[in-house]
Amino acid sequence: MFIDLAKISLRAGNGGNGAVSFHREKYVAAGGPDGGDGGKGGDILFVADSHLSTLADFRYKRKYAAEDGVNGGSRRCTGKNGADLIIRVPHGTLIKEAETGRLLVDISGEDPVVVAWGGKGGWGNARFATPTRQIPRFAKPGRLGDRLEVQLELKLLADVGLVGFPNVGKSTLISVVSQAKPEIANYHFTTLSPVLGVVRLDEGSSFVMADIPGLIEGASEGVGLGHDFLRHVERCRLLVHVVDVSGIEGRDPIQDFETINQELKAFNPQLAERPMLVAANKCDLATPEQISAFKDYIHGQGLECFELSAATNRGAKELVGAIGAKLVNLPPILEFEPEPFTPPEVDPQAFEIAKQGDVFEVDAPWLEPVLSTVNMNDYESLQYFQRVLVQSGIIARLEEMGVDEGDTVRILGFEFDYVR
Ligand code: GDP
Ligand code: MG
Repeated sequence: MFIDLAKISLRAGNGGNGAVSFHREKYVAAGGPDGGDGGKGGDILFVADSHLSTLADFRYKRKYAAEDGVNGGSRRCTGKNGADLIIRVPHGTLIKEAETGRLLVDISGEDPVVVAWGGKGGWGNARFATPTRQIPRFAKPGRLGDRLEVQLELKLLADVGLVGFPNVGKSTLISVVSQAKPEIANYHFTTLSPVLGVVRLDEGSSFVMADIPGLIEGASEGVGLGHDFLRHVERCRLLVHVVDVSGIEGRDPIQDFETINQELKAFNPQLAERPMLVAANKCDLATPEQISAFKDYIHGQGLECFELSAATNRGAKELVGAIGAKLVNLPPILEFEPEPFTPPEVDPQAFEIAKQGDVFEVDAPWLEPVLSTVNMNDYESLQYFQRVLVQSGIIARLEEMGVDEGDTVRILGFEFDYVR
């Protein structure tokens, strides 16, 4: 099945915790601190894989995690770094932050790109030894790895995109000019998924053509098939607009042409500006008057128009030659630029204090990892904790709220008496 959208969640590895440990050896009474650092958590990277053509794999597996870093050990042993996770996606996959829709990266190149970073490992207590603090009984916890939901969106990479009403002969065209073999039949919406074909030119060069399921009026508003597939021509350097000039299905070719252009514009105004060639197809069924009236109209729009009978392979060579000549002067396949990230203004040390009776309850989630490493029986360690409380403004706020000597302060389940 052709799947071109998927939402998955990423969890990069957490950093390992730093160790609290002291050197021990026979006959050495009190060794120095030798707790090693935690290892770094694994990153999550994305890389393009030319063997993949859809996002179908992501329908079944939605959660992806890289390995955590290992905690530090004694004897200054640094914990092992967590292994990175590499996720393979088809060329042309956009990765967006699900919540905001912000584009993080366009996986169109060859290089793997990090999307979620693993957390740094925490420092072991060996790092905290100073001449005045010889027995640090605390270490730093590892940082958490990035966690995010991402939306994967495949936008095929093709030089040329075929657009037009259903049943006008787009699939027939791609099947006569390339090796692609899409389904062709005389009913609407035969083509249910985009098809890429490589078209070889006489001089040995080639280009990629995309046949997408036919558009219908209202496609850009999500009516019927078509809307979903327009994204696959968004990168194209050139559009080839295929029109049934014979009007065999009872529609007016000029009206068809205008309707499709409106749909392109409604979907993405930039798409409507894309260079375009027109293929007047089913010429074998059309009268010379029909053909010339249509060509006059298209020329009046300043566009080139090519007579074509895809079913009998008439005019295909000329059309392909014209496409090749046009591509030479057009910019390369569109790559999307990641949108810059403007971090929301949040205070990393935000906290709230509520007074319940004579207990001051402090809520500060970011303090949790700090608290988990504090050794309450150790003077140095307590002092470190106290410094954090002062720096973050918690002490000042408590004073403002009228905390008194001997009052109880509770932080994340840990209680102590307030001492000035
Ligand atoms: P698509 O929906 O635009 O991909 O159209 P298809 O390529 O599936 O063609 C729809 C029908 O039109 C099929 O029955 C084709 O055989 C027929 N067809 C396509 N091109 C021509 C043509 O140039 N002349 C004639 N007579 N029929 C054609
Ligand atoms: Mg088709």
